[in-house]
Amino acid sequence: YTDLGSWIARRAAISPDRPAITFGDDTQTFGALSHRIDCLAAQLREGGVAVGDRVGYLGPNHPAFLVTMFGCARAGAVFVPLNFRLTGAELAYIIGDAGIGTLIVDASLTPGVDAVRDELAVTRWIAVGTVDGWESFDAVASASEPITDPAAPEPSDVGLIMYTSGTTGRPKGAMLTHGNMFWNNVNALLSLDVTSTDISLVCAPLFHIGGLNVTTLVTLQKGGQIVLMPAFDPVQALKLIADKHITTMFGVPAMYLFMSQVPDFETTDVSSIRYLVCGGAPVPEPLMRRYGARGIPFAQGYGLTETAPLALVMSTDESERKIGAAGNKVVPLSDVRLVDADYNEVPVGEPGEICVRGPQVMAGYWRNEAATRAVIDDGGWFHTGDIGTADADGYVFVVDRVKDMVITGGENVYPAEVESVLYSHPAVAEVAVLGTPHEKWGEAVTAVVALKPDATLTLDELREHAKDRLAGYKLPLRLEFVDALPRNPSGKVLKFQLRDALAE
Ligand code: AMP
Ligand code: MG
Repeated sequence: YTDLGSWIARRAAISPDRPAITFGDDTQTFGALSHRIDCLAAQLREGGVAVGDRVGYLGPNHPAFLVTMFGCARAGAVFVPLNFRLTGAELAYIIGDAGIGTLIVDASLTPGVDAVRDELAVTRWIAVGTVDGWESFDAVASASEPITDPAAPEPSDVGLIMYTSGTTGRPKGAMLTHGNMFWNNVNALLSLDVTSTDISLVCAPLFHIGGLNVTTLVTLQKGGQIVLMPAFDPVQALKLIADKHITTMFGVPAMYLFMSQVPDFETTDVSSIRYLVCGGAPVPEPLMRRYGARGIPFAQGYGLTETAPLALVMSTDESERKIGAAGNKVVPLSDVRLVDADYNEVPVGEPGEICVRGPQVMAGYWRNEAATRAVIDDGGWFHTGDIGTADADGYVFVVDRVKDMVITGGENVYPAEVESVLYSHPAVAEVAVLGTPHEKWGEAVTAVVALKPDATLTLDELREHAKDRLAGYKLPLRLEFVDALPRNPSGKVLKFQLRDALAE
């Protein structure tokens, strides 16, 4: 009963005529959506996709993303959503690592994919939209009779592989099971106020777990409606809130900041909003006040791809009381604790690594036993790499990240990956990448460079050098020079010293 494939099928049996997904002028009911999912599943199976095979999806938000995800589950295949902002080289690595045999691509991206097509061991290419020489998604999703004997994955079977950047510079595939996805939604239902009359605006990317599994799937499962935007746009988002009577939405703080800066923010009718869900970073207090003045409260959460994602959640009144917190340790169906280096729980107020145990913790990293063992201990605790302190009421404040990661506009950037590309610039003798505070993006990817003798370098030159190998959001926004990087006796760069120096 937990399998992703049954979610829409069961909901369609209960309320076939209720609206499920609105995209532009088009609204599909649950009945129509379920039919399309089952047709696609039949086609995947007839096309040779076997149980456990990986099917990739590359594109901005579109109903086809969800049809493919649920269709894969009905066919027993594993769904692999891909970040379309990655470069061809970055995508080629992930597609190869996951062993994707069937790839569904948005027509806006096919030229880029065509350029790297020969490097990929993909055998079936399907385009969402019309492109010459490609199979069309619409044709595929309507060519067969609906599947009559859908696969019935177990809770422990992998439903999705979602890639997340790694400290080593190579992305890793977090294996999310059908059970992980299901229990995350039970947690969401028990912690947030989700109703069957909700209309949730989905403008965070579906290929990230926050966009997919905080308000989106739980709203559908509950019989509510989602309004999909291809990509976030603050002006459009506000317009949709007023036009479609949006009641909830998930976003990261940068999205809410941009919406609050739209000139029409004060005059747009936002009275339909019940609350906004924010994750990825805490909502700054001034932003909370700005929305509060318009009668809009926040519910907040903390999580990771590896925890599908909810690990800490706060309702709207808790968010109001515990400003700056990431959430309460007590999520209905999971355990959270903060531990020291010996895995002992730290006292109230003391910093410790945030660890999560529960039915939403991933099965492991795809084909990477060593990386899995490094984060999930024998007791089943997932080590997040985030450092937090808890207050006496159990509210956790994230204070640092052990993993060195930069979060810019909701996207994670691992310094090691950027450094390895920047090192190949002929003017660079040494480089360290770190995040520095940025008003708009939360953090800015910042390169600290020691130049080779007599060399010169500008930020534009550095970005130009890296732009074919790194997605745009990973390129440095700020460049600073030093004579030499500060290092400890074993040669490790002392990033905290650089951070302090840059803050001055
Ligand atoms: P991802 O790998 O994209 O799933 O990002 C997960 C990371 O985002 C976590 O490990 C945290 O570092 C960060 N994060 C998520 N939610 C919050 C939050 N509410 N407060 C602070 N950091 C957060
Ligand atoms: Mg991650």
